[in-house]
Amino acid sequence: MKREALALEVTSVVLGASRDFLVREGFVELLPVILAPVTDPLRTTPEWAVISAYGRSWYLTRSMIFHKQAAIRVHPKIFCFSPNVRLEPAERAQTGRHLFEFVQLDLEVRGASREEVMDLGERLLLHILSQVRRECGKSLEREIPEYSRPFPRISWQEARQEFGEDFEVELSRRSKTPLWLVDFPIDQREFYDREDPKRPGVLLDMDLLYPEGFGEALSGGEREYQLERLKARILRQGLSLDAFRPILALAADGLPPSAGFGIGVERLVRFICGFPHVAQVRLFPRVPGEEAPL
Ligand code: AMP
Ligand code: MG
Repeated sequence: MKREALALEVTSVVLGASRDFLVREGFVELLPVILAPVTDPLRTTPEWAVISAYGRSWYLTRSMIFHKQAAIRVHPKIFCFSPNVRLEPAERAQTGRHLFEFVQLDLEVRGASREEVMDLGERLLLHILSQVRRECGKSLEREIPEYSRPFPRISWQEARQEFGEDFEVELSRRSKTPLWLVDFPIDQREFYDREDPKRPGVLLDMDLLYPEGFGEALSGGEREYQLERLKARILRQGLSLDAFRPILALAADGLPPSAGFGIGVERLVRFICGFPHVAQVRLFPRVPGEEAPL
């Protein structure tokens, strides 16, 4: 089968298997939000995509983090296939992992702990992989191993000490199984990841890394929901309270505690298919710094 067709088939199975799994777990699907007055600060992606309409500016959403926090006020378990526009620096075209328009499967659970969403993430991934093996196994150019749960985990500090600056690349390259990276230091992540009340300066968050050098699969964690703590975190990162007024207004009105994560769909399909670049997953890829014929 041609790679383009294989990518389409695998993507379709990934979407279907995710939906089936999450609906069975009691989730409801939210329609995506593409334009918003506020979006994810993402300090490592300095450029913002903005359009002007009706006399004001609208961001193209970089993630639905704030919408997820608002949505779980209405329903305890939500997910969304969320198109994100992130104007990644052009040199990230070379990582094999970056597009400037991509889709995440983004989910959030009211009242959940990090442990609970890590458990959910493992079961979701294994369900998707077994569905893909069943439906597309013959067309795949590689075999996806059976992974066992729980996946191993390592703290950010430990990983850094053991593997140096490039620990994420190293860990992913050496590993034969998906693995968790947990407990990021407070200044390594955005203000909405919750600080562990028992370990100041350490976040209750995580990344999942794919094995065989495919790199980051998902990011998530428990969320900060208390107004004063949110304000302190925004200021600590040198951001203005005014820019994040909508989320502060929600917190003032009462945000429930929650945890969740976002898993990149193109990266997941790339990993399953064993492709060198995420662009090969999309029929109409948006590669940082490159032209698009259509
Ligand atoms: P983040 O919250 O920034 O970690 O994004 C959530 C997930 O979306 C990541 O773990 C990746 O799987 C995926 N992702 C993030 N940025 C990109 C990108 N530029 N291109 C493709 N996938 C991405
Ligand atoms: Mg991430």
